[in-house]
Amino acid sequence: MPDFIIYNTTILSMDEGKPHNVIQGNLHIKDGIITGIAPPSLYNSTENNKRETALIDGSNFIIMPGLVNCHGHAAMSLFRGIADDLPLHEWLIKNIWPKEFRLKKEDVYWGTMLSIAEMIRSGTTTFTDMYFLMEEVAKAIEVSGMRGVLSRGMGGIGIMKKNAWRETNNLINNWQGKANGRIKIILGPHAVYTCSPDYLKKIRDFAAKVNLPLQIHLSETKWEVDHSMKKYGLTPVEMLNNLGIFEHQVICSHCVHLSINDLRIFENKKPGIVHNPSSNLKLGSGIAPVKTLLEAGLNVGLGTDGAASNNNLNMFEEMHIASLLAKGINNDPTQIPARTSLEMATCKGAEILGIQKIGRIKEGYRADIIGINKKRPHLSPLHEVEAQLVYSAIGSDVELVMVDGKLLMNKGELLTLDEERIMHEAEKRAFRFKHKGITNLKTSE
Ligand SMILES: [Zn+2]
Repeated sequence: MPDFIIYNTTILSMDEGKPHNVIQGNLHIKDGIITGIAPPSLYNSTENNKRETALIDGSNFIIMPGLVNCHGHAAMSLFRGIADDLPLHEWLIKNIWPKEFRLKKEDVYWGTMLSIAEMIRSGTTTFTDMYFLMEEVAKAIEVSGMRGVLSRGMGGIGIMKKNAWRETNNLINNWQGKANGRIKIILGPHAVYTCSPDYLKKIRDFAAKVNLPLQIHLSETKWEVDHSMKKYGLTPVEMLNNLGIFEHQVICSHCVHLSINDLRIFENKKPGIVHNPSSNLKLGSGIAPVKTLLEAGLNVGLGTDGAASNNNLNMFEEMHIASLLAKGINNDPTQIPARTSLEMATCKGAEILGIQKIGRIKEGYRADIIGINKKRPHLSPLHEVEAQLVYSAIGSDVELVMVDGKLLMNKGELLTLDEERIMHEAEKRAFRFKHKGITNLKTSE
């Protein structure tokens, strides 16, 4: 792996010790680690040969930490556009689950590769996944060079029930810490409405035994909360609390419908929260009270959820929507300023996932970084870097992506993936499920 100097560049470090810092300088990377930021200077290609260091002209870039997608189901990209404009339970139970039963290993692999290509192109360097046949996802991470936090979705019904324990054990035994430490395995109880209290207890005990965090869908819809109240007399949050689940590190996705008591429990137990604004809006699930959660001192990250309910995996869009939503529903333009959205998408997300030394550009941190081409009309003039990244930038402005000191994209070209083949393989498999088709115009003789 070569060392790198990205010279004469604009760096948004997200360094906690230096709020709102944008630095003009040279970023030095050695053995996959950020070794420092030096004052700007010029280099030429002969120096390059002497030093055995790859030099990248960063003058057109804003370099920032790679984005951390804290919730998703990568292989669901195969179902993108297959069942839109439906409420969650009709979408999931009637449309998605029956199709997931038919997925084979190769489907999950190519669906995940499709998502990885999309995520690299829009600046994501770490993603979280909860699905099944997860060893295929691990293989895709190994090949692509991405970083991932993976869990086998576990539940008492549907596809989540079949082989859940066996696949979870295989994932832990075969993939924990693999791909040079880029793969992290956690446990994935799907939700309170798909896991009985006894099943959750079993997962809780297993989490204690293997000392792993958990991720769960939590209080995503009003239906979920009503169902839990009717069945157990407890909200989903109260249920997890009563079972002692919050004594472990837990990543709670959605958290849209919370009672006062739920918030009290969160304030006390401090689980990680993942806000998925696009998915919650598209499925009509509601809007998570992010302002309240942040004020309660909770760590909040951002996620895209799967491409079947979003319908893309573009974290720039999630930052944009997160900031705008909070302003709109609170009638307060000061809510979720650009800096907060950037934190949720980088350093806070990394903290929630329990990954050390990513999410900031800082000496000693892993070189998970992205370069945004700032020479674009919609980013000009660049008065305020943070605000422009959240309110003006789009995913396709990303032209350089590096994970663990390895370039995955340079000059807009994917370096570890054959994009054409990935799209071909994914489309071939996706069209087995449903192909609305595009009407061909008939030519008249
Ligand atoms: Zn989800």
